[in-house]
Amino acid sequence: MQQDILSMTLPELREAMASFGQPGYRAAQIYRQLHVRHVRQFMEMMDIPTKLRTELDARFCIKSLFVARKLASSIDNTVKYLYRLPDGGHVETVLMKYHHGWRLCISTQVGCRMGCAFCASTIAGYVRGLTPSEMLLQIDETERREGVTISGIVLMGIGEPMDNFENVMRFLELLSDPQGRGMSLRHVTLSTCGIVPGIRALADRRTGLTLAVSLHSPTDAGRSRIMPVNRRYPLAELMEACRYYFTVTGRRVTFEYAVMEGENDSQADAKALADLLYGQQAHVNLIPVNSIKERSYHATRRAAQEFMQRLERLGLHATVRRTLGSDIEAACGQLRHEADAAADTSGDFLTK
Ligand code: SAH
Repeated sequence: MQQDILSMTLPELREAMASFGQPGYRAAQIYRQLHVRHVRQFMEMMDIPTKLRTELDARFCIKSLFVARKLASSIDNTVKYLYRLPDGGHVETVLMKYHHGWRLCISTQVGCRMGCAFCASTIAGYVRGLTPSEMLLQIDETERREGVTISGIVLMGIGEPMDNFENVMRFLELLSDPQGRGMSLRHVTLSTCGIVPGIRALADRRTGLTLAVSLHSPTDAGRSRIMPVNRRYPLAELMEACRYYFTVTGRRVTFEYAVMEGENDSQADAKALADLLYGQQAHVNLIPVNSIKERSYHATRRAAQEFMQRLERLGLHATVRRTLGSDIEAACGQLRHEADAAADTSGDFLTK
């Protein structure tokens, strides 16, 4: 099988070139063609001898993504792509404009096995984790198609990054490599549903990125009802891991809280949330839940603001996240669902 060259680090490429009997500088030339010039055909690498290009072509493949659908917001500059992967799976990528630049929300898996009750990504079933190249290509392709330079990445698309840990770490290594794109990981946010060993391992790697934790409920009973992961890693363990992340990295953790009317927005919920985060270096982001047709969870922006006021009265500062692309948001996670209607729904995380 041909090796996925876009997922290889420069030292790995050096080793491979040495096995081809090539001089040391060849690997850097090829790496530059791939990661800086974004050349997608070995034959177009003009600084590489023709014979070697042919050999590379036989031994390696350069993956690519195809656009299955594109939705552009008519309210703001938000654009959503449904990309088709080489094996036919689909993932979503969302480009958003912030005052300081363009930010891209990328997917890390084809589907998700975390089973959060309110999330469309889970409903469409889990297939596999993305390769580092498939994560990088979401950036390259979107930049090329939209003619923009992306300055920030959020790992908040389809999938659970901690459930594809090594590929995500390798993606971060490639993304931040000064010989490649060289993006500072300070401009990257990784969002997790709360996989405790992953949070600890990420802290130990000292990547400098921002960790976002999808909290969505301040009690074990409430959280286990909507997020099965809480049954494996209950709140006490999760909060301990978040404190560890802050201690080791010095970076404040962001807590995501999707407000769902009648589910997690009562006065008791506000009180429990304020108690849970008391004294913690944390930031709370509220978002009105985005209703999906298979479930009845719903919230208005006003409900999220009311919950924010409840928290403020209890001394916990929170923000209601600015909504971008609200006219195309309704399709979040659902574009893939429609495209992969027959996806395999086996491989439930908790029965693993
Ligand atoms: N698996 C990771 C990252 C992908 S989900 C995680 O759970 O954090 C990205 C964010 O979108 C998470 O905070 C998730 O809880 C949230 N989300 C999923 N479905 C949503 C919905 N219908 N409305 C609002 N937020 C949702």
